[in-house]
Amino acid sequence: MLTASCHCGAVRVTVARRPQSITNCNCSICRRHGALWAYYRQDSVRIDAAPDATQAYVWGRKALKFVRCRTCGCVTHWQRVAPVPGGRMGVNARNFEPDALGAARIRRLDGASSWTYLD
Ligand SMILES: [Zn+2]
Repeated sequence: MLTASCHCGAVRVTVARRPQSITNCNCSICRRHGALWAYYRQDSVRIDAAPDATQAYVWGRKALKFVRCRTCGCVTHWQRVAPVPGGRMGVNARNFEPDALGAARIRRLDGASSWTYLD
């Protein structure tokens, strides 16, 4: 088990295992957040937060919501607005303790344009 926590600890995201790779996306929202995304099946991730502890940002096609802590502002994850069975979500790996990332490979996703990996 591995837990990502926002800075103040109000939002905790727990996953079963370390990510093997994490994604650095250059799209308009990800580059501003400075997030590194680890992808997991949504039904395999546990989110512990009080109901009013988070805020969500939805934009564009309104398919995804980017969730942050209402207190400290750290972006903790994104998930689908309308979840689908077996669908995945993104956990901001920046919120893991640094040593938890181990040897995870960082991949560069061109989400701004071609939607392909650049490496
Ligand atoms: Zn917080």
